[in-house]
Amino acid sequence: MIDLHTHSLFSDGELIPSELARRARHAGYRAVAVTDHGDASNIDFIIPRIAGVCQSLSMAYGLDVIPGIELTHVPPADIHELTGAARKLGAKLVVVHGETIVEPVEPGTNAAAIAARVDILAHPGLITEEEVRLAAERGVCLEITARRGHSLTNGHVAALARQYGALLVLNTDAHSPGNLISLEMARKIARGAGLAESETEVMFRNSERLVRKIVNP
Ligand SMILES: [Zn+2]
Ligand SMILES: [Zn+2]
Repeated sequence: MIDLHTHSLFSDGELIPSELARRARHAGYRAVAVTDHGDASNIDFIIPRIAGVCQSLSMAYGLDVIPGIELTHVPPADIHELTGAARKLGAKLVVVHGETIVEPVEPGTNAAAIAARVDILAHPGLITEEEVRLAAERGVCLEITARRGHSLTNGHVAALARQYGALLVLNTDAHSPGNLISLEMARKIARGAGLAESETEVMFRNSERLVRKIVNP
């Protein structure tokens, strides 16, 4: 399992990065990204600290632990600049908290994330056809999520991604150890989103490719 969207104590997750990494390995993971909620107030605090521990955790626990950030409820006009700032601070993966239907995320967030060429637009809710077309053009991955609530629009995201050739990745958005899933569960969630087996394999390969790009730049 490769999971590129999880939370630690640096935002509202339950575990410090070390326990998250160890539990991910124990759950059979090959790679996990720690992507805590960030905005202009805290990314300079969070990212260097997470980045500082990821390499030793990767070596000790035998999986790729990737330092990232999830820009969350950031004003859309600031997403481009904060994406650059996050990368400079050491975020190897920039995720944006997309327009899920279960939270009042500011409209325009999906479009701003795609324009900023972030790595993953998480739980993009009822993303529009034009936004999915642009995500495909810019290589921004759209997320199929295991997270309750956010997952309500997985089918919509999967269908439009198929239509416009956008890249999909499947993540848990785990906040506690019980949210980590097996590859078997990931396959079930993908099927539930309407993806064929072959499309699910392509989706898993997209995550693998992202990890390779990060680990061997
Ligand atoms: Zn989110
Ligand atoms: Zn999240």
